[in-house]
Amino acid sequence: MDVKKMAFELKDKLIEMRRHFHQFPEIAYEEVKTSSYIADKLSKLDIEVKTGIAKTGVVGILKGNGDKTIALRADMDALPVTEKNDIEYKSRYEGKMHACGHDAHMSMLLGAAMILSKLKKHLKGNVKFIFQPSEESLPGGAKKMIEEGVLDNPTVDAIFGFHADPTMSTGKVGYKQGVLMAFTSEFTIILQGKGGHAAVPQRSIDPIVMASDVIQELQKITSRWVNPLEPLVVTIGSIHGGTTFNIIPGEVELKGTVRVLNMELVDKVKGMIDNILKGITDIYGGTYSFEFVKGYPVLKNDKAFTILATTIIKELFGEENAVEIEDPLMGGEDFAYYLEKIQGTFLRLGTGNKEKGSNYPWHHQRFNIDEDALPLGTALFTKFAVDFLSLDDR
Ligand code: MN
Repeated sequence: MDVKKMAFELKDKLIEMRRHFHQFPEIAYEEVKTSSYIADKLSKLDIEVKTGIAKTGVVGILKGNGDKTIALRADMDALPVTEKNDIEYKSRYEGKMHACGHDAHMSMLLGAAMILSKLKKHLKGNVKFIFQPSEESLPGGAKKMIEEGVLDNPTVDAIFGFHADPTMSTGKVGYKQGVLMAFTSEFTIILQGKGGHAAVPQRSIDPIVMASDVIQELQKITSRWVNPLEPLVVTIGSIHGGTTFNIIPGEVELKGTVRVLNMELVDKVKGMIDNILKGITDIYGGTYSFEFVKGYPVLKNDKAFTILATTIIKELFGEENAVEIEDPLMGGEDFAYYLEKIQGTFLRLGTGNKEKGSNYPWHHQRFNIDEDALPLGTALFTKFAVDFLSLDDR
């Protein structure tokens, strides 16, 4: 069976589906029309369809001949971004856009479902197609889907997925054994002072000055208190306080993120931030609140499955198109939750093409996908399922 050829025969269909998703983007846990479109497509194939998992999630189950089960996963959510691309299939909704390529992920997985359902007789096991809500927003659709049993009945043995990557040229596929993506978190700090007249600072407790000290001190976590060989990000991404020239405000709010590749650091860094807040507010006589929300765990690819994926990339697209990713990325991905439970691997699918303008970064208002990558992704999903199910257990 030539899955690459079968995927290329579907190219027009893949483009049509991707453009449909692109025009009607829905953000986290609101993927209602998206999931009914998917359920409709799957139900026309020889696939059992379950909807309403983790609210808007859809699962398709294709039963082959055997007990093994492989899961293939696509995420469905768009982002609160207003599209600036000048294209005929531009987002119809102001303030919503598929700016991370999840439209392409869904289309490629539907393509794989179309091919695999034709190959059903030859499959030595089952394929579960996971269409997951909310990759972009905590707590993450993957976690909820697992809680609602997506990896059971039939029990999933391994999982496979990938993300569109505009930093890699179309045709290339990136792989990495071990840690690929970071633990992420979101924190909110409120520094409480005492408001008053700008001209009488001695009667106020100035939260703006406290905030400036806190921000400076937070830099010392990475530069002084943690081993320099340990990857760590502490970023404040938002600061709000005050109204005008001559008023000392009552409070300032800071929002930020901590990212690490080593889960053991998470609570230590959280403790360091708390100590800084305690120390600085003590000096000024202010108070604070600190809310730290843990995001996705570190994404760790299984060695054996990454080797299998690498062999598949080389077979499908040639040796020169299999790109080993050297450094992990400090971004997060909720696919990590599946990999905490079962083996598998997560790849990067090149979708960058400067001539076509598909080289803008993820979440950008001009983010786009080179649609020539769509059949490649469909071929990857399909071959990974076929080859995994054909593996001899002994
Ligand atoms: Mn994404």
